Amino acid sequence: MNIHEFQAKRLFAQYNIPVPDGKAVYSAEEAAQYAKEVTTDVAVVKAQIHAGGRGKAGGVKLAKDKKDIAVYAKELLGKTLVTHQTGPEGRCVRKLLIEEGIAIAKELYLSLLIDRTYSRPVFITSLEGGMEIEEVAEKTPEKVIKEYIDPSVGFQQFNGRNMAFRLGLAPEIIKQFIAMAGNLYRLLTEKGASLIEINPLVITKDNRLIALDAKMSFDDNALYRNEDIKALRDLDEEEELEIEASKHGLNYIKLNGNIGCMVNGAGLAMATMDVIKLAGSEPANFLDVGGGASKETVKQAFQILLADKNVKGVFVNIFGGIVRCERIAGGIIEAAKEVEIKVPLVVRLAGTNAVEGLEMLRESGLNLEVASDMWEGAQKVVKLVMGSV
Ligand code: GDP
Ligand code: MN
Repeated sequence: MNIHEFQAKRLFAQYNIPVPDGKAVYSAEEAAQYAKEVTTDVAVVKAQIHAGGRGKAGGVKLAKDKKDIAVYAKELLGKTLVTHQTGPEGRCVRKLLIEEGIAIAKELYLSLLIDRTYSRPVFITSLEGGMEIEEVAEKTPEKVIKEYIDPSVGFQQFNGRNMAFRLGLAPEIIKQFIAMAGNLYRLLTEKGASLIEINPLVITKDNRLIALDAKMSFDDNALYRNEDIKALRDLDEEEELEIEASKHGLNYIKLNGNIGCMVNGAGLAMATMDVIKLAGSEPANFLDVGGGASKETVKQAFQILLADKNVKGVFVNIFGGIVRCERIAGGIIEAAKEVEIKVPLVVRLAGTNAVEGLEMLRESGLNLEVASDMWEGAQKVVKLVMGSV
């Protein structure tokens, strides 16, 4: 789960990580109201969406005059912001963060995340802040500093010093940096975050270290431990179809391709996506209907699949181990009664009651093709979709 910058900054404040003074607002009137409280000459109006790259896309405005705060607020609210992270459809701006302006002397980069390969948290920091860290890592990898933390002992002062010295920070900044790193570590571990990213982390002209931006992601499986974090979920920022799928206990992730996949088991679902790519197309989704799928969940899954306008063909790939193939067939037939299937459908059923399932599908009169293995199925559906565009 991701949260907004203003929410992450509230958590930062709770953990003594310095952030600019500011307020989240939902309307131009509220923005104008807050403008009266701003004490600095310059204020910053920032679009709150779950995506980075807002600065370049016009989602971060510097208001040099207090009156401009409401003007920019009006301009941004309701606007669809397209950044390199939102995809071409962009994101609608519903909230803003108004902040007091900071006089920046230097922009750095600092993040803390879980490195799955090494099974431990790692800090990543660089003097090259404000720009994309991926680009820095690619062009000048020597400018990216990593500090691994041993989770059995946790963050130690020397970890902070290692980073501060390698960055070459001035003595008055080093202490603040070490304290900040320690606080970030506490925040990550106590709240079950998988990533905290500060880009830019700034050194101000009066030598203070402040988090100017804040991004946080949480491990969904740890959300039960922190009700306060769970409450930060913003459904406006999530894919509608994914929310619908989660209500039915389905593991559905929307992707950008045009072949809808209905599969049981995460491993088979991943393999199915690979095989679709291998056959020359792209999957429209990841969908694992699970082992205990009932006719009802299959029906829901099928409807969610077809609700995606990009879907130009569907590949059902089921290996009946725990799940029984006739239930899958029943679910598809039920779903087809409610939504017309206008795209090619290829079905591969194997395992428990596969023969019965295929028989049911055949008798239903549905327009579909049967495949005897997944490679044949993937090739068939890709060919049908290519032929229909
Ligand atoms: P992002 O583009 O979505 O990552 O949004 P950021 O929060 O990183 O803001 C983009 C850029 O706006 C930053 O890199 C800063 O250069 C600038 N910016 C944000 N807040 C301030 C501020 O208080 N003062 C000044 N001078 N610049 C700011
Ligand atoms: Mn940023």
